[in-house]
Amino acid sequence: MMSQKSLWNKWNIENQTQLSFSKFCELRPKNVLTQGHRKLYQCLCEYCENVKLKLIAINRFLAHDHPELKFTDEFDAVNKTLCPKLEAERFHKRDCIDRKCAECGTSKLRNMFDGVMENEENQPDVKWKRWDIVKTLNHKTKKEITKRQEIEKTGPPTDLLEELLDELVFFLSPHLFEARWQQEQFAELNKNFPQNSIVLTIDFAENFSCFSQHEIQGAHWAKDSVTIHPCIALYRCPKDGHIVDECIDIVSNDLLHDNHAVHTFLLEVVNHLKQQQKIKLDHAFILSDGCAAQYKSRVPIMDVSCCSEDFGFTVERCFYGSRHGKNRCDGEAGVIKSKASRAIKNSEACIPDARSFLQCVKVLEKGAEKADGACNHNRRTILWVSSDDINRNRPDRNVKTVKGTRKLHSVLGIKRGVINTRRLSCFCSQCREKRYDRCLNTRYVEGWKEVRLKSFNRNIPVNEDDVGNAGDNVVHEDAADDDEDRPILEDADDDDRPILENADDEFDNDNGSPGIPDLQIEDINNISFDPNTSFSYIKDDDSVVQSQKFQVQKKTLYGSSITKSDTLTGHYRTTNLLSRSVIFPKNCLLLILFFLGPDTVSNLIYRCCFICLYHFVIKVYVDLNVFFRLPKQMAII
Ligand SMILES: [Zn+2]
Ligand SMILES: [Zn+2]
Ligand SMILES: [Zn+2]
Ligand SMILES: [Zn+2]
Repeated sequence: MMSQKSLWNKWNIENQTQLSFSKFCELRPKNVLTQGHRKLYQCLCEYCENVKLKLIAINRFLAHDHPELKFTDEFDAVNKTLCPKLEAERFHKRDCIDRKCAECGTSKLRNMFDGVMENEENQPDVKWKRWDIVKTLNHKTKKEITKRQEIEKTGPPTDLLEELLDELVFFLSPHLFEARWQQEQFAELNKNFPQNSIVLTIDFAENFSCFSQHEIQGAHWAKDSVTIHPCIALYRCPKDGHIVDECIDIVSNDLLHDNHAVHTFLLEVVNHLKQQQKIKLDHAFILSDGCAAQYKSRVPIMDVSCCSEDFGFTVERCFYGSRHGKNRCDGEAGVIKSKASRAIKNSEACIPDARSFLQCVKVLEKGAEKADGACNHNRRTILWVSSDDINRNRPDRNVKTVKGTRKLHSVLGIKRGVINTRRLSCFCSQCREKRYDRCLNTRYVEGWKEVRLKSFNRNIPVNEDDVGNAGDNVVHEDAADDDEDRPILEDADDDDRPILENADDEFDNDNGSPGIPDLQIEDINNISFDPNTSFSYIKDDDSVVQSQKFQVQKKTLYGSSITKSDTLTGHYRTTNLLSRSVIFPKNCLLLILFFLGPDTVSNLIYRCCFICLYHFVIKVYVDLNVFFRLPKQMAII
């Protein structure tokens, strides 16, 4: 990969010509693209990516002597380890995919490479890349942290082959199959779903970080963020029965992105569909990725079981294959975020917070009727949910984790505390109509299994079976938490992720308490901040985690009587005040304090969180120092 300039230089040297640069560019073949065309690919599945990187290295090795053995992609590599597929079938046999077949396996690939990738004398080592966990030091806290990074490995060709075979053995074949199966089933469902039902595809978008045109330096460090949760709803038009595609985007100032927020957003979406679009609903299919903190863990599963109470219809929650959850929500969020960005750049709008973001993007809404009165089947609605509207105190939803949650791809709500689960989703013509016993895909999809959720809370006997032997079953909160942690870890061993063991935050967030994790005071001390710029930690990418920490500080300091929204508003209020004092000359803080009077100041101190207070004191100290060293007139200026 070179720039056109360096390629032009190389050309002139190699061919001993004096071709001009402009002529060289003009003669560039159309199929050779410039670097501007290069896309940035991110958020890829690390398992597939690791296999792809090894295949690249193996193909390079085979290019000269055995080009016939080269792999086209990871599917090709997996297929070469399975029994041949029957002509009429879309997929290989399920037993082969799950590595239960005695006739196939990675030995097939090993035989194929017999004598090809041998360690020979004087043979140069091969190089390949892989994403791996590396240990580094956090420069601020001086603590060892782990992070994922692309590293280059060097070794004999046999090592490379063995590493590839290791990854292909158990993991990749079911992983790719599940990812593809779910995608295909969802595509089928989107085209064809029953009457009086709705298909919702939901996902959180990356937060929009507010900015302004002609922004001054000091404003850069204290930016507000906006949560965007797109929901693509497909339903039948009540007027003519055509499929309506409506994007219902939730805009919120709540930055926690947890399952409570998702529940409130869904209630809002359903409310809108029933009230505004006037559609009748018996059933909803809700498709999402498998992020534990948001969609796929014990609380959301309990929410599914309570669907009839909450929504008034049954719900089936379906999950994309692990790490393959890309869907239309990303594109939808892109549309509204770029509208806001354009409006700011053109000075058409000023967007300092979530509310003004909503105002700005509201113009993108598309109603149920076109200008000429005809029915519009491509709609967009943007709804507001305030952080105060999200109820995070839902002890009745606090149940024990269902064993093997990560392997499930479909959960059907039956009644409070009771769900049916399935390893894979199926939307064949029979399953769509809930005639599950006549499913056409039984070769690949198992039947539903009934699961009764176990409650932590003795007052709500969710599981009638367990009431009898309540003696063993009464669990104290703490004991229950311990009890809960173990199954999760056990799962981690036998599940999806043999390659990167302490894999993903998205799976590890499934902690006990609803909403607030049990952080200790040491954790609070680890929060990164930079005293020079007041509130630099607000810009940290992981604003969710940060805001969770704010809550904890508040909790630790004032007990649990103060709610989350109090904390956040208190925090932002102080942040705003202090960041303004960065913008003004430092002494202004003193003057502000003076004009605010003792009542406001004490109120401010009461409302602000621990770190705000810390900054506040430091600032006052610094300002006092500066103040007394300066001549009086200057200070007043
Ligand atoms: Zn993958
Ligand atoms: Zn087989
Ligand atoms: Zn219509
Ligand atoms: Zn089926």
